[in-house]
Amino acid sequence: MDVNKQMILKKIPTKASEEFRNFPMVPRVVYGKGSFDTLGDILMPKRKHSEAPMIYLVDDVFENTELISRIPSIFCDQVILISAEEEPKTEQVDALVKMIQEMFTELPSGIIGIGGGTLLDLAKAVAIMLTNKGNASEYQGWDLVNKQSVYHVGIPTISGTGAEVSRTTVLMGPEKKLGINSDYTTFDQVLLDPELTVGVPKEQWFYTGMDCFIHCIESLNGTFLNAFSQSYGEKSLELCKEVFLEDLSASESREKLMMASWHGGMSIAYSQVGVAHAMSYGLGYVLGVKHGIGNCLVFQYLEEFYPEGVSVFNQMLKKHNIVLPKQICSKLTTAEMDTMIKVAIGMEPLWENALGEQWKSIITPEKLKAIYQKI
Ligand code: NAD
Ligand code: ZN
Repeated sequence: MDVNKQMILKKIPTKASEEFRNFPMVPRVVYGKGSFDTLGDILMPKRKHSEAPMIYLVDDVFENTELISRIPSIFCDQVILISAEEEPKTEQVDALVKMIQEMFTELPSGIIGIGGGTLLDLAKAVAIMLTNKGNASEYQGWDLVNKQSVYHVGIPTISGTGAEVSRTTVLMGPEKKLGINSDYTTFDQVLLDPELTVGVPKEQWFYTGMDCFIHCIESLNGTFLNAFSQSYGEKSLELCKEVFLEDLSASESREKLMMASWHGGMSIAYSQVGVAHAMSYGLGYVLGVKHGIGNCLVFQYLEEFYPEGVSVFNQMLKKHNIVLPKQICSKLTTAEMDTMIKVAIGMEPLWENALGEQWKSIITPEKLKAIYQKI
């Protein structure tokens, strides 16, 4: 980090608590190939009694696979298969909570999310909404949750989002796509078993992996950077470069990407993401483009902001023969384009991190339109 930049951009805090955020971390984590089989032992002491089930929310890509038979389901536990075709919605969370409440008289002992960012976010949100009144959309924002959530466990099966460590769960609501950011969102337990990512299709592996790479670039080049974020961001970036530019064995590559995701998530916890994420939110909101690929679609045109990052990204695309879709925004109406720009510009902390407090003098609707039109 450029020290001058850090000094110029250090904000004058109004309250000490605004400058020094006291954020929660995952208190327990198991790591290692085959560690999924420790889940039964991990959950046992968390079982309140036989009528208070463990609810497993599992990506339906695992339907009829061996993984389902390894889930330590006992008593009245439930395995609920959920599609990750679309990103999670607040109404989906509300429906799941209602279903669980109708099925059982007791509050579940735990919610276990098994899958990618989509399933991890759903598990976090369901755990919160089982103990907090109202609808999930009422909690989209910062620190609106006031009751402890149900014990919840995250088990990633694809690496990159950092959702396993973050204090947010990103949901599409009736009015906005925004996270439930709270101290009660973070998982109580995470289980990192790199073998669970074996079946991930190549393109999806790349897009979700690039989410992690872009977290690092945006965090390390942001004005909010500090030694805490930098230490995690640099490690994550190093691992991403090994995974996507070197010729590691498949097993080593899976292990390293899983840890890159973890470190990338830790890096942004104490800083922020930037331009690609702000613009990707616009793509997601208007066109339903998913997070990982959306970030890639934007990032390729951001050489002005991240010259080195974009150059490395292009090398990675080439090495893995990934061809990004084209003309995604070519058929947008003026109104849709305006909404997309509005959603992107609304992500103020991301712009401030990327470009500093004076970001509005650099980023205009015209500028964003010109970038979107290339996509
Ligand atoms: P995902 O969960 O959307 O899954 C992508 C695809 O990969 C799906 O088709 C899924 O079925 C498949 N898949 C997952 N594991 C697999 C496996 N082992 N084998 C075969 N197929 C597998 O992907 P993602 O990129 O991890 O998550 C994206 C979501 O994460 C978005 O909703 C985004 O908003 C969210 N996100 C959350 C955070 C956070 O901090 N909470 C951060 C970044 C992104
Ligand atoms: Zn991301």
